[in-house]
Amino acid sequence: MQIPFRAVVSISALIGTCICSAAEPLKLAIIDGQNNHDWKRTTPVLKSAFDKSGRFSVDVWTTPPSKSPSADWDQFRPKFSDYAVIVSNYNGELWPDLIQKNLEEYVANGGGLVIVHAANNAFPQWAEFNKMIGLGWRDNTFGDRITIDAEGKTIRTAKGEGPGAGHGSQHEFNVVIREPNHPVMVGLPREWRHARDELYHGQRGPAANMTILATAYADTTTGGTGDHEPMMWWIPYGKGKVFTTLMGHGDYSMKCVGFQTTLLRGAEWVATGEVTMPVPVKFPSADEASSVE
Ligand code: ZN
Repeated sequence: MQIPFRAVVSISALIGTCICSAAEPLKLAIIDGQNNHDWKRTTPVLKSAFDKSGRFSVDVWTTPPSKSPSADWDQFRPKFSDYAVIVSNYNGELWPDLIQKNLEEYVANGGGLVIVHAANNAFPQWAEFNKMIGLGWRDNTFGDRITIDAEGKTIRTAKGEGPGAGHGSQHEFNVVIREPNHPVMVGLPREWRHARDELYHGQRGPAANMTILATAYADTTTGGTGDHEPMMWWIPYGKGKVFTTLMGHGDYSMKCVGFQTTLLRGAEWVATGEVTMPVPVKFPSADEASSVE
């Protein structure tokens, strides 16, 4: 059968567009510099995962250390708008007003933001940041708590009731996908074994416009709450998107193939609204964790 010339042109134009957008690395910046976690050890694991995917070109922005003079902070001027996505591995002093405003504008104008583990402990006094992350490491007087019940229904616990932020002992635990049709989660097993990590519970905040993508059961035998706690979620902020993963306490936790796959896909999705990265062959099963070398 003869294919009309116009059809050939439009098909190749389509293919051309796809190849082009997949080949062009997305500009990504990791922010670190202060954290009660070992950021000097974890940032290289994050950077390596993003680099190896070929989908991102990665810069690292390191803030001045804590108690630095304001002149040092004047030298720290991350140009958020140069990037498709910003990844926070930062948990420290409140940023100067100008940097706060710049991040708010960047996300509101369509930028992507990814929050990793203790980065959600940061900035309780920054109202817009709390809206972006939805839930943070805060005590129970700070805001509402979100859990998922046995039937998969979202439960909102009011401020002042129930536990505040905490975690039990580190252990391997299963992550359960709650939105299997979300682009970040498509093709992943419904449940998979995550490498040894802290399982955050009782996170608190405004919790508005949250889509819970995955949860983990915080078993009381390991010091948990006995509830299905949110592990990954996303929130729209203006024209932008914020993806939070609570996993990633140590470099060993971040080497989990499940952590890295969802992190990379989350970053791609907040940057472009699409996910092109496939599920790796070494993805963990419900019974067996799997880590990169
Ligand atoms: Zn931690």
